[in-house]
Amino acid sequence: MTNPLYDQLFGKHAGKNTPFLIFQDGSILTHAAFLESAAQIAHVLTDNGMVAGDRLAAQVEKSATSLALYAACAQAGIVFLPLNTAYTVDELSYFIENSGARTVVCDGDSKTLLDPVVSKLGARLETLNADGSGSLTDQAKAKPSEFATVERAPDDLAAFLYTSGTTGRSKGAMLTQANLLSNAATLAELWRFTDKDVLLHALPIFHTHGLFVATNVSLAAGGAILFLPKFDLDAMIDLMPKATTMMGVPTFYTRLLQDERFTADLTKGMRLFISGSAPLLAETHRQFEERTGHRILERYGMTETNMNTSNPYEGERRAGTVGFPLPGVELKITDPATGDTLPAETVGQIEVRGPNVFKGYWQMPEKTAAELREDGFFITGDLGMIDADGYVHIVGRNKDLIISGGYNIYPKEIELILDAQPGVRESAVIGVPHSDFGETVLGLVVPDSPETPDLDAILAVAGTSLARFKHPRKLVLVDSLPRNTMGKVQKNVLREQFKDTFA
Ligand code: ATP
Ligand code: MG
Repeated sequence: MTNPLYDQLFGKHAGKNTPFLIFQDGSILTHAAFLESAAQIAHVLTDNGMVAGDRLAAQVEKSATSLALYAACAQAGIVFLPLNTAYTVDELSYFIENSGARTVVCDGDSKTLLDPVVSKLGARLETLNADGSGSLTDQAKAKPSEFATVERAPDDLAAFLYTSGTTGRSKGAMLTQANLLSNAATLAELWRFTDKDVLLHALPIFHTHGLFVATNVSLAAGGAILFLPKFDLDAMIDLMPKATTMMGVPTFYTRLLQDERFTADLTKGMRLFISGSAPLLAETHRQFEERTGHRILERYGMTETNMNTSNPYEGERRAGTVGFPLPGVELKITDPATGDTLPAETVGQIEVRGPNVFKGYWQMPEKTAAELREDGFFITGDLGMIDADGYVHIVGRNKDLIISGGYNIYPKEIELILDAQPGVRESAVIGVPHSDFGETVLGLVVPDSPETPDLDAILAVAGTSLARFKHPRKLVLVDSLPRNTMGKVQKNVLREQFKDTFA
């Protein structure tokens, strides 16, 4: 019997008394014990009628058991569908219904509200609380700690992962075993992960970054994970000396830098800091190196494709870029109108092809056909360019492109200028409706308190460094930028909020 995902990430660790999860209090769960608990859960699921190919939706807190649920699904051939813990019951209903899940696992607190939704769909509801208690573990305790792995092929579905919903409603990306495995193997090798590594893990495990990149890479290499329920500055600082690597979203890095306890000495046992999911400011990259001596390695990926590019492990990690296409991944920049490949140093849409690219969006054939070309290239929705040295630069999302008076304006170019001005912590540039130009440029500026930025002075600087059609028509001070759980700025929220600025 073979099941590539289970065998290559999980099964190979069976019986090993090596640390897999290390918790904040210093307690350890070994690979062997983790796999035993996964096997018990696999028994619960299959005894309750689930068969290979069925979907299991889970909205549960990050815990050893919720991670074991992923392993259990892999072993039983069940398609795993983790859901953002921030979703409300109404939002959950959409995902449960849309995915046709046969089992839903939720926190005990949501049970009463979800019961009617789940029973209407003829699915089964189990509970799993943050502390590991609940109906799932109650049943699991009595089950054998070995489970006969269900046979699967590389092209079989392993997960439905919903996108972050930054640009609209989340879409369910169908990911195969081979999608996940190829990426885990490539990244583990590229980033030199070994069984000696200890990864500081404070990311959520309902998203590709914390679940697949962080967990699968560690499993592929056989290393340990310092498993924090969420990002907590004190805990991060406390545990950093015990880790060798960390993966984070840019806000992890800015928050660490804001704390004086975060020093070069604290990071001297670390060999690698990785950032992704949202753009890392070049300024953060620079400050981080100044403080710690480490150069953050930025990479680029998305739910639909896993990771696509990475800065090099050896060689220059270039700030403000996401590095080179991964081995086995093709990346091209194309003209959005014609689909033709554009020359280097020209901005266009980013397309990728490789073993990492998903099978399509679940029950969205039209969307799949529009974004996944017949030749296998996926139109990512991001705009970017490849520089003369081959580094990929992300310029922004296609949907955030501003078209004013017929000219294309890339918000990032303007944001970089605003961010560099005194008193500015960060900024977001959006297009808002304008009667003459169709759209015009609005800049939202977050002050770097206590200093208040001089907006007129900033407009003057922007006026001298940018072509006239790119000048922000107005700058507005805001306390903060709206972000989703992955730290991504929600420009659609800003566009809605400021749509009447020039009406
Ligand atoms: P939705 O597709 O639902 O609008 P989303 O695109 O934010 O949401 P994800 O799949 O979580 O959902 O995020 C992938 C996106 O995150 C990429 O398409 C890209 O825009 C952004 N991203 C990821 N890594 C980086 C990076 N290093 N620099 C800039 N942007 C990044
Ligand atoms: Mg997306």
